[in-house]
Amino acid sequence: MTEQTVHVLLVEDNSLHLRLIQKLLAGETQLNYQVEAVGTLTDALACLENRPIDLILLDLILPDSQELETLFKVRSAAPEVPVVVLTSLDDVSLAARAVEAGASDFLLKTRLSGITLGRAIRYTLARVRAHGAEWDSPMLRLAQQQFLKAAQIMGLDDNIRQRLLFPQRTQVVSFPFFRDDRSQVETVFGYRVQHVLTMGPTKGGIRYHEDVDLGEVAALATWMTWKCALMGLPFGGAKGGVRVDPTTLSKKELQRLTRRYTAEIIDIIGPDKDIPAPDMGTNEEVMAWLMDTYSQQMGYAVPAVVTGKPVVLGGSLGRREATGRGLVYMIEAAASHIGIDLQGASAVVQGFGNVGSYAARFLEEAGARIIAVSDVSTGLYNPNGLSVSALNQHVAENHVLQGFPEAETISNAELLELECDVLALAALQNQVTVNNAGRINCRLLAEGANGPTTLEADEILNERGVLILPDVLGNAGGVTVSYFEWVQGMQNLTWTHDEVNERLKSILLNAFERTLQRATRDSQDLRTAALIEGVARVTEAKLLRGVFP
Ligand code: GLU
Repeated sequence: MTEQTVHVLLVEDNSLHLRLIQKLLAGETQLNYQVEAVGTLTDALACLENRPIDLILLDLILPDSQELETLFKVRSAAPEVPVVVLTSLDDVSLAARAVEAGASDFLLKTRLSGITLGRAIRYTLARVRAHGAEWDSPMLRLAQQQFLKAAQIMGLDDNIRQRLLFPQRTQVVSFPFFRDDRSQVETVFGYRVQHVLTMGPTKGGIRYHEDVDLGEVAALATWMTWKCALMGLPFGGAKGGVRVDPTTLSKKELQRLTRRYTAEIIDIIGPDKDIPAPDMGTNEEVMAWLMDTYSQQMGYAVPAVVTGKPVVLGGSLGRREATGRGLVYMIEAAASHIGIDLQGASAVVQGFGNVGSYAARFLEEAGARIIAVSDVSTGLYNPNGLSVSALNQHVAENHVLQGFPEAETISNAELLELECDVLALAALQNQVTVNNAGRINCRLLAEGANGPTTLEADEILNERGVLILPDVLGNAGGVTVSYFEWVQGMQNLTWTHDEVNERLKSILLNAFERTLQRATRDSQDLRTAALIEGVARVTEAKLLRGVFP
């Protein structure tokens, strides 16, 4: 279930309808609602002044205001907040006029169910978001700020700087899929963004998450470009996503959604064009459906259209654990650079999905004591060390960490501030910010997630002597083994597990060494040095190819 809370102002003077709507909202599972209920326009306007409201459910006939007048007054008090009009059967034409006059939708009170109400609210919010500046996301701002900082330090040509700031190709789709009851059709937004097409095919994961928007996908595609260039892989960066909470969908629904999304973006993907992979909310199974849909359209099996697929379909050995394994190779290198011996070192891992759980396992194998871990359900702390195999077993049985017996529970904020040698961030973006950077208590902060640290937080941590292993190095293991999978697929070869891991280690450590040398030589932090390495390679390629025509 989602954590997102929607603040709804419910303006309804009929107490029966009021109670019904409140009850329906309380029973809705896809979003959490915080409802403020009032019965007059005066109270509604006061509420809009004092509280943050995401959406207004509005009865147009109130004791102190009637018909469109009600809508106009509400809209002029809060022009940016969407209004869904509540109407009875005999007032439908008034409701339709209200929609013409700027309301987002109307709902018939007599035919209201939890499903119709929930959908109207979700679709209205999705529309508002689509109408708003999609590019304007905090993540894209962060990716662009980081890039501009690197560009300035390296004295990047202004033409190239403009060219790399936004992605080269973007596809935005909205598409339907059937829910399991076959009576409901959900419409969702999907994206595929290709940031740089100069280096070869583009490469990057597909994310299913309720917060996905164009700006987020563009930021992630940008980071993929730097990451691939830094590793020396023959790819430009891409990313895809669907704005949906996959935890609310059944497996069959996920499969229908994936197949339709694939069909929508089929023209711009392909083994020589753009190769998707798993990311947050997607996995091997989703890649199998994507590969099957693509192959059905082509008329023959095309395993190399995706990476991160099951081994039996041409997936690479070692791909599943590659991001976590790569993170730990990098942590070992960074730790030894600052004199931390992982044997006996204390480590905290935020996030226990694919990246975090494998990172915890490999850290434990390297001799570290895992004193805390977390996932969406809880944080766990045990100063004597948690057993990663026991944690994995608990998650296999219960899906989440919550309820694990051999630990104290702690909040996410507390977990981030624990004293430790290594803090590995393998959850979401925007975790270490100006608000908590001063209290982060580790020696090495290793980024497994994309964009978990803001630029201001970087500065504070650098000043405090915390070494940051940036995401473009920290999580590059995933795309590096994806590259191996693609190469194996194109050549119909299979490599052994050892071969994969050896090649992975050598590529990652080489990139780490180059970055460290540059950072030392130019007195830069690792993030800036890593970005400069990546940007320099892309720039060289762009200049060699020139501008068409
Ligand atoms: N989604 C992963 C990333 O962000 C992997 C991408 C890939 O393997 O292409 O790096």
